Amino acid sequence: MPRWFARTPSVDPRPSRAKLRVGIPRVLNAWSTHQFWCGLFGELGIERLNLVFSGDTSEEQGRQYGKGRGTVDCCYPVKCVTGHYGELVFGQRQKLDMVFSPMIYTLPSFMSGHVARTLTCPRVMAAPENIKAGFLKERDVFAENGIKYVTPFVSLDEPLLVPKQLFEGGLREALPGLTMEEMQRAVDEGYKALREFNERARKKSREVLEWCARENRGCLLVLARPYHMDPGIGHEIEVDLQAYGYPILWAQYFPIDDDLMQWAFGPDIAAGHIKSPFDIKDVWPSSYSSNTNEILWGAKAAARIPWIACVIRLASYECGMDQPTYTPVQQIVERSGTLFFSFQELDSTKPAGSVKIRVETITHYLEKYATDIIRKKKAASPPGCPLLPSAWETERPPLVRQLAPRA
Ligand code: SF4
Repeated sequence: MPRWFARTPSVDPRPSRAKLRVGIPRVLNAWSTHQFWCGLFGELGIERLNLVFSGDTSEEQGRQYGKGRGTVDCCYPVKCVTGHYGELVFGQRQKLDMVFSPMIYTLPSFMSGHVARTLTCPRVMAAPENIKAGFLKERDVFAENGIKYVTPFVSLDEPLLVPKQLFEGGLREALPGLTMEEMQRAVDEGYKALREFNERARKKSREVLEWCARENRGCLLVLARPYHMDPGIGHEIEVDLQAYGYPILWAQYFPIDDDLMQWAFGPDIAAGHIKSPFDIKDVWPSSYSSNTNEILWGAKAAARIPWIACVIRLASYECGMDQPTYTPVQQIVERSGTLFFSFQELDSTKPAGSVKIRVETITHYLEKYATDIIRKKKAASPPGCPLLPSAWETERPPLVRQLAPRA
């Protein structure tokens, strides 16, 4: 009887969100968390094609869409955000319903639990509040264009807090009919998508390292912040280097499989210098900033992996967070015999001429010294490197010596 009299809804009671268009500025920590937002909005019913990320940073973007809306911030990567907001508001053929720009307070780093905190740079975290001022100064440009501006404060490294932070931080009003249960499911999907993407990228990096080990070839590791992957911020310096045939790895996507970590950091753990492979207290005790922690850890990893023959350091103009790390990072890398080159104070202009000369210098040094660097680093490494096929684990004599006729 209850089943007979029960009301069967003819349609899904949730309002359809398939037509809603959501814009996300492709800036700052969106470069390392984009998959979380894709998974989250996908689960909330936003069509993939209606989730719009702004383009790469460029001078043109800033001129065309950000002119006259700049706010006071001396950091170049933060200043660029104005152009991205402008592109989302004024540069779309089909208008957006929402601009979503989260204030990310903590990051879900692979070093979480091994360091003091995984905080974001305060300028990065506050950028959405800062930049929006340029779009509200005379009148509310978002409202004028029928766009909801949603900027929740979110601690991505504390998953239990995230559903509430997003729900109460503006998504409840922006997505009618949204429930807390739905929000929880969407957050779970977001973490799943982010985890899967990171695992795929790390697997690819491991394949590159294994190839280098097999062929005894050198590769380069980039130590930078996630937004240096943006061609307008990092100026694609690593791409120029890769064109010379050297594989490039980024510390953010370095393989962290247990076998490799135990091989690389096991002796330090056994000696009591650190508690785990991701502990950096031996080189950076005030491990509060997530991206800084990953840069310092990347320097340690580069020092221990023989086939990383060179480290490239990128930093942006006026970066207060990076200043104190310049010396320790350089020393960690150079003391292992690895080549170290640094491009600091990057801003809007790509110094094409000087980058070209430096890229040629780096590749010249690599051609000349990489084999020697790899040989010396291998000699200083513990035996049984998991990157090598087992037949190669023990160092074999060079082929010429094996084939030489006996006296
Ligand atoms: S201080 Fe450094 S980390 Fe922070 S926003 Fe500026 S450039 Fe980025």
